[in-house]
Amino acid sequence: MSEYSDKSVPPCPFEKKHPSFLALDDSFFMAQAYNQAIDAWNAGEVPVGAVVEYGGEVIAKARNSVEEMGDPTAHAEILALSTACRAIGDWRLTGATLYVTKEPCPMCSGALVMSRITRVVYAVPDPKMGCLGGATDVNALPGSFHRVEVQAGAVMEEACRELIQTFFRIRRNGRGDSTASNGLDQ
Ligand SMILES: [Zn+2]
Repeated sequence: MSEYSDKSVPPCPFEKKHPSFLALDDSFFMAQAYNQAIDAWNAGEVPVGAVVEYGGEVIAKARNSVEEMGDPTAHAEILALSTACRAIGDWRLTGATLYVTKEPCPMCSGALVMSRITRVVYAVPDPKMGCLGGATDVNALPGSFHRVEVQAGAVMEEACRELIQTFFRIRRNGRGDSTASNGLDQ
């Protein structure tokens, strides 16, 4: 179990989503990433969640686990990628889509390119650290061997933004810390 000792953030006040299985669309898969983000919050982590869809099915779900694992690479996207690769028995995720509640950081954006994943859908753009169009775009690297199809915003953006911004607002207030932030830092 987590040894996370930050008691300044209470349990997540947001409800999980229960999307209909009748429409396996972007909203359906993003709702599952959102639910992972709520799990992250309740585990004492910055609330970011990710899932990987392949062949119409979710083959990996993960939440941010940096505090619990004591590992700066334990972002939701990295953990979801690793699980997805084990699930299909190939490090190449061609044909898969990763859904994540906020724009991937430099590390995760790089890992997504390396995985050859076909598509990434993220809910909340991150103008400070996002590297799929927010702060910069790894797709724009000259000579990159793989280009990730990106869909930014539009899918559950408001709900995902409210979740993560509320988390940071509560944590900031709990610490008496008025440091300016866009509320997206992991
Ligand atoms: Zn990341």
